[in-house]
Amino acid sequence: MAKYIFVTGGVVSSLGKGIACASIGLLLKSRGLKVTLQKLDPYINVDPGTMSPYQHGEVYVTDDGAETDLDLGHYERFTGQTMTKDNNVTAGRVYYSVITKERRGDYLGGTVQVVPHITDEIKQSITKLASRDNVDVIIVEVGGTVGDIEGLPFLEAIRQLRNEVGRGNAINVHLTLVPYIRAADELKTKPTQHSVGKLREIGLQADVLLCRTEKPFAESVRNKIAQFCNVAPEAVIQALDVRDVYEVPLVFNQQHLDDTILRMLELSCPKQDLVGWRTEVVERALHPTRRVTIAVVGKYIQLQDAYKSIYEALRHGGLANDAAVEITRIDSEQIEREGAAKVLGDVQGILIPGGFGHRGIEGKLEAIRYARTTGTPFFGICLGMQCAVIEFARNVCGLTGANSTEFDPNTAHPVISLLEEQQGVTAKGGTMRLGSSTCHVEPRTNAFRAYGQEEIRERHRHRYEFNNRYREPFTKAGLVIAGVYRSGDLVEIVELKEHPWFVAGQFHPEFQSRPLRPHPLFRAFIEASLKHAGARGGRQGARDGQGAKRRSTKSETLRSKKS
Ligand code: GLN
Repeated sequence: MAKYIFVTGGVVSSLGKGIACASIGLLLKSRGLKVTLQKLDPYINVDPGTMSPYQHGEVYVTDDGAETDLDLGHYERFTGQTMTKDNNVTAGRVYYSVITKERRGDYLGGTVQVVPHITDEIKQSITKLASRDNVDVIIVEVGGTVGDIEGLPFLEAIRQLRNEVGRGNAINVHLTLVPYIRAADELKTKPTQHSVGKLREIGLQADVLLCRTEKPFAESVRNKIAQFCNVAPEAVIQALDVRDVYEVPLVFNQQHLDDTILRMLELSCPKQDLVGWRTEVVERALHPTRRVTIAVVGKYIQLQDAYKSIYEALRHGGLANDAAVEITRIDSEQIEREGAAKVLGDVQGILIPGGFGHRGIEGKLEAIRYARTTGTPFFGICLGMQCAVIEFARNVCGLTGANSTEFDPNTAHPVISLLEEQQGVTAKGGTMRLGSSTCHVEPRTNAFRAYGQEEIRERHRHRYEFNNRYREPFTKAGLVIAGVYRSGDLVEIVELKEHPWFVAGQFHPEFQSRPLRPHPLFRAFIEASLKHAGARGGRQGARDGQGAKRRSTKSETLRSKKS
């Protein structure tokens, strides 16, 4: 039978619950346990696929085509486990299922209620996943913070499940904040006490406290928290701010969190081996010998989370090349206002991520033209690939007004058009081309040199595609069709013949990149960007570790060290 770790959060949101869960997952996996993770989201959307990045950040796509919470990205990156649609359950999905059963007559004669029907459905989603994967431990993260009205059915389900499986088979981990009050020069434990008290009101006793704090706390603070919250002192963990997010499992391990959890769950396991994680990931991230600046040209650059997996995958590409990747986040509308040369003059590689809607497209096209004409390495992802095709059509083939029918339904040159399977689809939720499919990579292309194999699998999330009508003329004009989905006859990768590294894919490679297994295209893109910097001379400083001198654009810089 699986053991359960329920993880809740208190005081404020954004304390890094997903990272904490993923880190515990990695620690337990390193102790030889089979682990899975699940995210319970209390909102009513059936999945986050219909939400704007402003609401939700990135939508993470799994192999099996589920549109999920971005925490599943952390789970996959830290543990290397493959997540599925069952690893993310929302209140919307739970209610949808219960209401469908009610309409079918499954509860005929009865009143359908939050307790027991909704809570039963939640419990089933958890136990089903645990038994499906035959895991030793399932880590269940509840979204939101304790005290949220919509979180209550989930916490009640956990309370019941805990009772059912009994002592030694389930624990509660609670993530809280221990704020530092400058005026008093003190760390305050009261918010944590309140939060744990709030949990207790609903019948849940915290067993482990992960305390986010910007200052290390004294033994007396630890003991106070333990005493007031009814938790063993060794189960009060200091989750200090770290230099690199991948350090979190090491910080937990230093405080023997894995030992404490295993003891509480009555599991005995061999000592862990975190050597690979320490040397290949953390040490490399903290001590790079080179530096490269990459522009990510998008629409939601002011949000930390909108392109989360892209930023992480770029960092992985850096790890593979022993380089720090400094990411300059650029609003494509800034390029429309100021011109590509001014905004992109100092970067060594340009990446255009996925997206929807016409806002900012012209700026992206400008960025691509700049990359194409200056030989700056370019990596286009999904919408970025579609934009690369539009730019090529307009500026190389002279097809004035060429566009995607997403942005201009009446364009004379619909070089990107709706997928055939999408004709007539009007519902928005879960209806895109989603999930993993096979792509055949052409030999003698940059994509092939990166992957080193002809058959690859990548994840998708889109409605529009390269219009096959333009395949022949564009190929003649110098576009390379470097990858195709053969059974659907879809173009998946395009490159440029006369360019050092210009690769654009219809899929989302960022979702498959792991710190211990950087994605081949991200690795190759960073490598090409370092080379480009070298070719442009010491000014860019890629070889001397100085880093490029950045123009003061309005765009923010996300140092690769920080998450
Ligand atoms: N909007 C484009 C499409 O639907 C691209 C989607 C994306 O970048 N994920 O095809």
